[in-house]
Amino acid sequence: MAKISRRKFVKKIIGTSSGIVLMGSTDPLMSSHNNMNICSNNLQVFIPMPVQVVIDDVGWWSGKDGSKTQEPYRTGINRNHVPEDYKAIVDLGKALNIRPQAAFIVCEWDKNNILRNLPTSTWMGEKWDNSSWVGQWLDEAAEIIRNNRKYFELTVHGIGHEYWEAGTFTRAEWTDSNGKMRPPDQVKLHLDYFEKILNQHNLGPFPESFVPAAFRHSFGPSEGRIISLAELLKEHGINYINTPFSSMYNKERVQFEHFGSDAGVMTIDRGNDEFPWLTFPANPVKDLTGPTCGLHWPNMLHPNPERNAEVVKRWINYLKPINEKKDMMLAQDSVSFQHQLIHHSLTRAQPKNNSIEIDFSESDKLPESAKNEEIILKLLSDKPLKVKSNGIKIISQSLLEGTEFIYTLKLGRLAGNVRAQLRLG
Ligand SMILES: [Zn+2]
Repeated sequence: MAKISRRKFVKKIIGTSSGIVLMGSTDPLMSSHNNMNICSNNLQVFIPMPVQVVIDDVGWWSGKDGSKTQEPYRTGINRNHVPEDYKAIVDLGKALNIRPQAAFIVCEWDKNNILRNLPTSTWMGEKWDNSSWVGQWLDEAAEIIRNNRKYFELTVHGIGHEYWEAGTFTRAEWTDSNGKMRPPDQVKLHLDYFEKILNQHNLGPFPESFVPAAFRHSFGPSEGRIISLAELLKEHGINYINTPFSSMYNKERVQFEHFGSDAGVMTIDRGNDEFPWLTFPANPVKDLTGPTCGLHWPNMLHPNPERNAEVVKRWINYLKPINEKKDMMLAQDSVSFQHQLIHHSLTRAQPKNNSIEIDFSESDKLPESAKNEEIILKLLSDKPLKVKSNGIKIISQSLLEGTEFIYTLKLGRLAGNVRAQLRLG
């Protein structure tokens, strides 16, 4: 098919009820693709794969890799972190209108040394003393996070990232390197203390998302445990886990290609990051093949924090074209990400004559069902379209016009409707 040139596209926002009449080339489409449906008038329908940005190991103030001396790996950079590093995440979010997940480590935010009471969480154990990291920068960074909630999602990653017993650590905080979850009472305490430290800085409420430290994670209960980590997280209000399935224990239990449901907690595949955690800074180029764009904090920062924007710009330029693809999109936040991924995987949108039949019966079977929520559809056509809905609400439409027309429709489900229809004119 004719290659779509991004530069030729003109984006238009269209009123919800009006038809669209715009002139453009009418080259017929001659293509096939395993993730689309073609109908006779050269229309392709996609339920695009959503992409969410997940940034690991946010929260450290020291950049030092301490792993040789029984301290955590941290971010492994040759400078300390500064409030500008938090602003970099917000800047990425604002530029793309997304809410990146900051997988957060909190121990160096402990103002009152409460972690003395949880010796498994730090390298100093009962002698924990964080006074060297208590300063004005905590308030400055907390303010950046609080004032930019829409562009910064605080995600649980850990307290100290590893797990200390008698002065030495093993990987990792929540699950060991054999895939066994830490004792349930310790898991609960680590979650409690994570929350207490957030509260020291008015950074609540407690997050709803989780990235396991060092990606040590078991899907479902691990050997010797009757309860899964997901279930303990759920008791604490977490409903979504993001981790690479390639290193996940019991991954054969996962029900779908990109995600599984563990005790009702949606667990989504991170895939493989383009960069190792130590790449500082990074220059992303590799096409994403899965729903998560995973990276580590140093990958998007500059050795000179005043120049962070230069590296953030690279990530913006890398991610922005995703919205212009016919079969992908950037998720606005992790809730819409989860819902759209369910739709992408299980909802069907089938062209039929001059309409598109949408069927939610498979996606509605999930406990995390996206019932009554939104779904994004993309229509690729060689001519302008008028779209009317039946049994579903068109919340918004936008058009990318190039040699073809790509319509992005945001639809709102109506209660009780398992099926809906779009009529095309
Ligand atoms: Zn980590």
